[in-house]
Amino acid sequence: MNNILDVINKQRNYFQNGNTFNVKNRIEFLDKLYNVIRNNTTLIYNALQLDLGKNEDEAYTCEIGLLLNEISYIKNNLLNWTKPKKVKTPLSSWPSKGYIQYSPYGVVLIIAPWNYPFLLSLQPLIGAIAAGNCAVVKPSELSPNCSEVISKIINEVFSEEYVSVIIGDKSVVDELLKYKFDYLFYTGNSIVASSIMQKISKYLTPVTLELGGKSPCIIDSSADLRLAARRIIFGKLLNAGQTCVAPDYIIVTKDVKQKLINYLILEINSQYGDNILFNNNFGKIINQRHFDRLLNLIDTQKVVYGGKFSAEFLKIEPTIMDNVAENDKVMQEEIFGPILPILTVENIYDAKKIIAKFPEPLALYVFSNTKDVINYFINTISFGGGCINDTIMHLASDYLPFGGVGKSGMGNYHGKHSFYTFSHEKSISKSKTFLDIPIRYQPYSTLKRWMIRLFLK
Ligand code: NAD
Repeated sequence: MNNILDVINKQRNYFQNGNTFNVKNRIEFLDKLYNVIRNNTTLIYNALQLDLGKNEDEAYTCEIGLLLNEISYIKNNLLNWTKPKKVKTPLSSWPSKGYIQYSPYGVVLIIAPWNYPFLLSLQPLIGAIAAGNCAVVKPSELSPNCSEVISKIINEVFSEEYVSVIIGDKSVVDELLKYKFDYLFYTGNSIVASSIMQKISKYLTPVTLELGGKSPCIIDSSADLRLAARRIIFGKLLNAGQTCVAPDYIIVTKDVKQKLINYLILEINSQYGDNILFNNNFGKIINQRHFDRLLNLIDTQKVVYGGKFSAEFLKIEPTIMDNVAENDKVMQEEIFGPILPILTVENIYDAKKIIAKFPEPLALYVFSNTKDVINYFINTISFGGGCINDTIMHLASDYLPFGGVGKSGMGNYHGKHSFYTFSHEKSISKSKTFLDIPIRYQPYSTLKRWMIRLFLK
């Protein structure tokens, strides 16, 4: 596709000519983006309704609001972050001074998924622009109505040579990856991530990978079970469970399991009513393939709540499965839907053995009021990020980096971390010319050798 190469070349020229370097200009573009998002909220609501059955409150809270907040926060801090950062100078380098200069990479590629289509296309873009890059954005083909609106918004704010949207499926990604980008930011599943990494290895393109995985909730008998149930159901049923950091499964101690299940059911009913398939505040599954995949994960023998579905509207009831074992089908992949398996342990510390059977989770949630239990799980398991006595909320903080580890991803973003992700840290040592200490120059005398060993030890 000539068009893709053409866009990349135009962006490279635009970048090389220094058009993105002025920080005040970047802030003006972020301002424009803010206003255009605000002016298009109705279009965004409609597109999210069509693609995901997402209701307006959820669309605002989990996409539009987070984007507006991110822009405001970055705009308010950008002048400060972009300043060269002075660092200490070792005595051996005296009288020079060291500092870090934050430099944009150049032309970055952002590949986004379908589950939070606006948030996950535009939040990385905000970081890329703040850091002074040009960008090509490739939204998901599975949320086509949202992709159209993303394209409209970006075209209203930016010229093609600054930011461009390219719509299409994996064949378009394959085409894009034939060319060199200066940074790649990918959000999606780990199988595609690994194939993308292979393709870009020929250019040694630096990359951030925002992936998924099975994120556990660990609950012991000291937890406030009612509150735990409320917060788990909140995190699980947002976007009908199609959230990368949704609680994937629960591990609970046997003594409080039944009580927890009762509270989970109570919370489903109090948050969504008892006819959830017809509740417009509860989202639909993105497509037939994912709908069929999810139904296939349900073992009807183990269902203690839910299990009904609407094939017509692609909706699945919140479904709780009890007495689930690690080798059950539902435990073999990230669920990414409203199914909640419950695994039971006698001793809460045994939860670690279960979690260790799966790759590093993107999120981990521990519900307990026992300090030793909390510290044990937070400190001894490798996972992206998480909450103590809550779900999802770590993602909503401007101040926390968001990202996975191992199979759940590499790198992070949000707030200042987005700025750093899309900036290269140039290390600069600025030497003085009024003085030239000759110790480092050949030939080395006994005195020089002695002094070098005095400074460098
Ligand atoms: P998806 O199918 O929309 O794919 C994501 C992007 O990759 C799309 O733009 C798509 O066109 C492209 N793509 C798909 N298949 C490809 C291929 N074979 N080659 C090249 N490009 C390809 O979304 P998905 O992967 O189903 O997303 C769901 C996954 O993403 C889940 O694992 C979820 O946990 C994860 N996720 C992670 C985050 C995060 O922030 N860490 C956020 C959302 C989703």
